[in-house]
Amino acid sequence: MRIAIDIDSTLHHYWNLLSEAAIRRFGIDLPYEEQLDWGITRLRPDQLHLCIQETHLDAAILDSEPYPDAVATVTRWRAAGHFIHITSHRDAHTLDATARWLERIGLPYDDLHISHDKISRCLQLGIELLVDDSPENLADAIGHGMVVATISHPWNRELCEEEDVICASDWRELNDLLDPLLRGPANV
Ligand SMILES: [Mg+2]
Repeated sequence: MRIAIDIDSTLHHYWNLLSEAAIRRFGIDLPYEEQLDWGITRLRPDQLHLCIQETHLDAAILDSEPYPDAVATVTRWRAAGHFIHITSHRDAHTLDATARWLERIGLPYDDLHISHDKISRCLQLGIELLVDDSPENLADAIGHGMVVATISHPWNRELCEEEDVICASDWRELNDLLDPLLRGPANV
């Protein structure tokens, strides 16, 4: 199968990095449990942009630790013959640091794409399964006939309840839920 996997809030816990940047810069807390939709209303758009930039500096990217079982799970999927596309909604200049981070954590992949338009690249690559936390991307992928899955977060809870989204609390559960789909003969 051809699988696309997001990075922030999918392969590692991103929210604490963003919240820490918001506190440091603006004294504004962004409690994780209160992020019930994709809009981050406590920060103005320009403030949010600065905080995201800070979390995407090379050192911050390289320091991130993957969620437990994430690397082992993706490694197994690729060893079974599945195509792994890593995709992130980051600025283009982060490509090198992102590639170095993937190397540091030992995550194998076939294609890495950094852009603000994930779905177009997924369609180009014939992606069949998208793992992403963003409700917007998940809904868009469903509209294009992809199977979608996510790590559960407050901001995608509603979509998980309303749409056909495979929703897991962690990577171990994600592996279990996707196993019936990925266990069959790999379709690369
Ligand atoms: Mg994400």
